[in-house]
Amino acid sequence: MKQGKLFVFSAPSGSGKTTLVRHLLSQEIPLGFSISATSRKLRGTEIEGTDYHFLSLSEFKQKISENAFVEYEEVYAGVFYGTLKSEIERLWNEGKHVLFDIDVKGGLRIKDQYPEQTLALFIQPPSKKDLELRLRGRGTETEEAIQTRLDRAEEELSFAPKFDAVIVNDDLEKAKNEVVQQVQAFINS
Ligand code: ADP
Ligand code: 5GP
Repeated sequence: MKQGKLFVFSAPSGSGKTTLVRHLLSQEIPLGFSISATSRKLRGTEIEGTDYHFLSLSEFKQKISENAFVEYEEVYAGVFYGTLKSEIERLWNEGKHVLFDIDVKGGLRIKDQYPEQTLALFIQPPSKKDLELRLRGRGTETEEAIQTRLDRAEEELSFAPKFDAVIVNDDLEKAKNEVVQQVQAFINS
């Protein structure tokens, strides 16, 4: 199996990671999305096996005991998210580089395990107020889930300096161009 590159996108929920990752996947670049496993419930227009592998908590714990994850985190109390080893292998076997939309700790763990191959990008909202407006504007979470995400954002923002680059997602078109340019440069490096 030829190993490709790994592109980690991390940021507080609501910063625009998903929007930027979808933009990258629409480009003529051989990239594939690492479909994480999660024990949270399916949300809005999400599709099982496309956005996430939705597992029950006991199924998730079973996979932990089988050592099936490259990394996993209890991102919110009682809610697990993780990257399956089989996902990276699947995409590399298809000749693709891998995109990850994962939390800051998981992202840095990928970088630790594949230091040469990984470009870790931190997507930063222009301000905490913008983050809140975007989370509310998305309209996919309950008020409680929005608060949980905002409470977590503070700690996540403090991880930005550990990443290879920080992309401020203010003007969306500018941020889209910046991620495409960073990804292409790293593939060609
Ligand atoms: P994340 O994946 O980081 O949780 P999303 O990509 O779902 O974030 O973006 C959160 C919300 O903010 C979405 O409704 C999205 O359309 C919107 N959004 C993303 N980028 C921008 C931007 N640069 N300016 C304004 N709104 C944005
Ligand atoms: P959401 O519930 O909004 O889809 O995701 C919540 C958080 O979990 C986000 O910060 C997202 O990046 C993170 N996340 C998604 N998949 C993974 C994963 O496989 N591993 C880790 N560590 N975090 C993940």
